[in-house]
Amino acid sequence: MLCLKTIYAIIKDMKLKLKIIFLTVIFLIISIGVFFVSNKKNARIKFENQLSIPAKIDTLNTKVTSTPSKLIPPIRVPILVYHSIRPSYVGEPNANKIYDVHPNNFEKQLKYLKAQGYTTISFEDLTNYFDGKSLPTKPVIISLDDGLETQFTNAVPILNKEGMTATFFIYTNAIGRPKFFTWEQVRELSKFNMEIGGHSKSHPYLWKITDTTKLKIEIVESKKIIEEQIGKTITAFAYPFGLHKPITISEIKEAGYTSARIGFERTTHTKDDLYTLHSFMVTNDMKRFYAVINNQK
Ligand SMILES: [Zn+2]
Repeated sequence: MLCLKTIYAIIKDMKLKLKIIFLTVIFLIISIGVFFVSNKKNARIKFENQLSIPAKIDTLNTKVTSTPSKLIPPIRVPILVYHSIRPSYVGEPNANKIYDVHPNNFEKQLKYLKAQGYTTISFEDLTNYFDGKSLPTKPVIISLDDGLETQFTNAVPILNKEGMTATFFIYTNAIGRPKFFTWEQVRELSKFNMEIGGHSKSHPYLWKITDTTKLKIEIVESKKIIEEQIGKTITAFAYPFGLHKPITISEIKEAGYTSARIGFERTTHTKDDLYTLHSFMVTNDMKRFYAVINNQK
C-alpha cells in the first residue's frame, strides 16, 4: 500500500508529458510480465501433453497384447458358391439356369484355381486363422449349397480327382428327398474330408423370423440333427438366400457356429467378418470366374 501511495504522489507531482511517459513504461513492464508468465504456462501444458501421448500409446499396446487375435491381418480368400453341377436342360427357365454349372466348366474352374496356385481350405480353417493358425499362401473356399444330388454325382469325383476339398451346406428337411443327398452320402462326404455346414432346417427367409423359438428350430435343431448324423461338431453356417438380421447372427453364435456366409462380392475378410463372410456365386460365365479369382477386392 505504501508503495502505491508513493507512486501516486510521484504521478501527482509530474507534468502531463512525464505522466504519459511514466504510465506507458509501467504498462510495458506489466505487459512483458504477463507475456512471460503465460508463455511459461503454455510450455508446461505442451510438455505435459508430450508426456501423455506415449502414455496413451502404452495403454493401447497393453490392450493389443492382451488380445493377440486383433493383430491378425485381413486375408484374401475367395469364397465360391455353387448349386447344381449339371448341364442345363432344354426348356429350363433362365431364372434356374444361373444355378447350374456344367461339370466341364466346374472342372475347368478347379484346374484354373490349381494352376494359379490356390489351395482349398474349410470355413473352420479360416476361423482358426483368426485365432493365430497359419493358412496356405493362396487359400480358396469352394462351397456347394442345398445338398443337391448332382453335387455328389458330378462335383465330388472332380474334387477328388483334383485333390481339392469343399464345404457342403445342407438344410436338413431336404435330405433323403428325391434329387437331394441321402444321409449316407452326407456321412460319406464328412468321412472323406469334406466340411459339412448348416443351412437351416427348411431353408426359410431367416431374416423374416423374429420369433426366437422358430429361429432356434431352424438353427439349433438342424445343427443337432447334422451332428448326430455325421458324429462331428459343425461350425460353419450359410444363411439361406445369403440374408440375415442382427437377431439371426445372435442365434447363430449362440448355437455354437463360429462362422457364417452371406452373399455380396468381396474376397478380403477380417475377424469381424466371421459371421458375415462375403462370397461369389459361380455360374457358367468363365470370364466372370477369372475376373473374380484375379480381382483384388
Ligand atoms: Zn440355399
